[in-house]
Parts: sequence; structure tokens; C-alpha cells
Amino acid sequence: MFKKSIKAYEKACEVIPGGVDSPVRAFKSVGGTPPFIKKGKGAYIYDIDGNKYLDFVQSWGPLIFGHCDKDIEKVVIDTVKNGLSFGAPTLLETKLAKEIVDMYDNIDKVRFVSSGTEATMSAIRLARGVTNKNDIIKFEGCYHGHSDSLLVQAGSGMATFGSPSSPGVPEDLTKHTLLCEYNNIEQLKKCFEESSDIACIIIEPIAGNMGLIPADEEFLTTCRELCDKHGALLIFDEVMSGFRASLKGASGILKVKADILTFGKVIGAGMPVGGFASSKEIMSYLSPEGKIYQAGTLSGNPVAMAAGLVSLLKLKANPKIYNDLSKKALRLVNGLKKVASECNIPLQVNTRGSMFGFFFCDNEPKNFKDVGSCDFERFAKFHREMLKRGFYFACSQYEAGFICTKITNKEIDNCIKNAKEVMKNL
Ligand SMILES: *Cc1c(COP(=O)(O)O)cnc(C)c1O
Repeated sequence: MFKKSIKAYEKACEVIPGGVDSPVRAFKSVGGTPPFIKKGKGAYIYDIDGNKYLDFVQSWGPLIFGHCDKDIEKVVIDTVKNGLSFGAPTLLETKLAKEIVDMYDNIDKVRFVSSGTEATMSAIRLARGVTNKNDIIKFEGCYHGHSDSLLVQAGSGMATFGSPSSPGVPEDLTKHTLLCEYNNIEQLKKCFEESSDIACIIIEPIAGNMGLIPADEEFLTTCRELCDKHGALLIFDEVMSGFRASLKGASGILKVKADILTFGKVIGAGMPVGGFASSKEIMSYLSPEGKIYQAGTLSGNPVAMAAGLVSLLKLKANPKIYNDLSKKALRLVNGLKKVASECNIPLQVNTRGSMFGFFFCDNEPKNFKDVGSCDFERFAKFHREMLKRGFYFACSQYEAGFICTKITNKEIDNCIKNAKEVMKNL
């Protein structure tokens, strides 16, 4: 069934470390080798062996309209014909920026970059430069990309490989990163007692990189209060949750407002885009207006801007999409929970808009440590068997899943039916 992919993987391993360009793709935590993908269409992807899968990964979030959406495809092709990159301003950047900042009360300006990693890295530099402080607070299991000071107990790929941090990151850099348990108010307060040099808190307000774990509202309120009290900035990393959890991401669901927002994934619709945004006062510290340096040869790339713009305009024109996506996400996880309980398998489920998560464990996980006590062997078996039946779930319990607009209730019900057969033998 995977003959060609297995061979392709061997070949890839000869010239690419671990055969992949991002660790989680290697299927290490579920065993076996990854299918090599040939193409996608709507809610499906197809591998080089001719297998077809219902895709719940959607490139790890960006593809809210599924694969090969006609509108996005058309605008990308039209834009490509005018040239791929200029390293000079284009109208598309202003258009996309305007669409984004108009959505939120708490941001006036956005700077585009090419990945989520760059967005969070730059947001932190901005927070440090504005506050003139050095320490940052991050939470165990939150992933903010792979820049040095953020590679401390990051979720997903890192968590799966059990490395709390990474070789090659000097302690001198991470000593400014204070680590707290997610949803733990006491620990957070302690951090502020121990350091008077805190520039910012960075948090996934809806964590999607240790499975799906939303932050408690009270916890976020405490983050806000402590930042205000101590002159620190609050960064919501919405690279995953932005335009996913709701049209305005986590910010659209929560009362707490952040000082800086970071974006990625959906704002590029599958092209490499990231962005960070804040008030005009804070953003005025950025070069060339201010002294904080940040740059990129391909930043605001026209093709990527065009893809993001059409995607965002589609979402804004039809915000009901989110009702539909939420309902489908709930239909899926509630269905999975039901068949699991029929098989006496404890399963914890959660959704936020088009994001979903499920854990094989007895109680709802509230933090990274809780996720660690889930049944990983059972997850690996479930993953493998579902893959064989044509359902492509994220290959780690530390990852969230995604619903796209192209998926139908019938396909979800069929997935649940198959899950029941698989669970009978788990
Ligand atoms: C994916 C992700 C990032 C990193 O984005 P890249 O584009 O992979 O660099 C940062 N923060 C969060 C919350 C993410 O989910």
C-alpha cells in the first residue's frame, strides 16, 4: 500500500536529514514512514502510491478552504504572471494589511514576514525593544516556532522527540526565557516576583501544539493584569488560531486583549506568510520608523499576499463559514467520543471553531504534563489503522486537527464509522 512512499522516503533520507524538512512530518511518534503526497483536491490528498486520504491536517492549518480552491488558485496564477518578487512595495501588501487591521480594535499596523517563526521572533524583539527589558515568559507546550529563545519546552515536533530544548541553543539565550505551566496562575505570579526584567508574555491563547488545549479565561485575565502591573507586553501567538478558531481567531472569542498579535498559516492560504501586529505607537519602534531592526528579502511577497488576501476576503464575505466549520468539528469529535465510549476507551475531545483535538486519556488535559500521561501507543495504533482506511490525521497526539470548508457531514460520518471499527481492536 505504501511501497512507493517507503522507497521515496529512503531516497529522501540520503539527501535530506531524516528525509523531511520539518521533523513532525517523519511519523516518528506513530511509527512507519510518511506517505509522499502527489496532489490535493478539496478535502482530500493523494499519495504517490495512489492512496486517497480525507485530510484533517490541511498543511497544519493554512488551508481553511481545502486544497486547490478555485478562487485562490486563480488569483495566484494571475499574480505569478506579473513576476514572483520585486523587493519593492506592492499594492497587495497594503490591501492585505488593511483587511487585517480593520478587523481588530487593538491593532493599527501589521508587518509581514515569511513564516510564523519569524513573526513570533520579531514580536519578541519588538516587545524587548519597546519595554527595554530582557526576560520573556513562555508556557510549557506552547510552540512559537524554532527561534533560539523560544525553543524551551516547545510542543509538537519538539515534544514528540522528548527534547526539552535543543542542542545548538546557548544557555545564555534561553536564560532570559522563563518557563511556566500553562493555565497555572500561581507559577505565573511567581515569575513576576522573581524577575523585574520581564518584557513580555507570549502565549497561544488556544494552544494547538500540545493537542488542542484552550487557556482558561481566568488565566488569560491574570496574564493581562500582571503585564499591565509590571509594564510588560502581552503577545497572543495566533499563528495557528488566527482565522481558524473564529474569524478573529482566539481574539474573537476571548475578552482579554493582547498588545501584540502574531499571524501565519491561514493568512497565507498555503503560501509562506507570517505577520505581527500592534498599535501604531508600538509599531513605530520598528525600522525604518524606529530603531528596532527587522527585515526580509521575500517579506510581503506578492503571490503570497494575493493568496492571503483572496482567502481573507472570502472568509469576511461569508463569516457563517465558521458556524458550519464549528458544527462539523463538533460532529467529528462527538462522534469519535461516542464510538470510543462504546468500546470502553476513554477519549477527551475539544474544538474551537475549525480546530479540533482528541486525547486518549481519562481526564481533560489542561497543560503539557497532562498530555504526557495520555496513551501514546493507543494513539499510534489508531493513527496507523485510520491511515490505512484513508483518513489522514496529524501524526502526533501533540498536534491539533483541522476542518476545511470542503468536507461534508457524510464524509465525517464515514470517518466515525471507520473509527468505530478501528477502536474495537484498540
Ligand atoms: C506553526 C506555528 C508557529 C510557527 O510557524 P512556522 O510558519 O512553522 O514558522 C508559531 N506559532 C504557532 C502557534 C504555530 O502554530
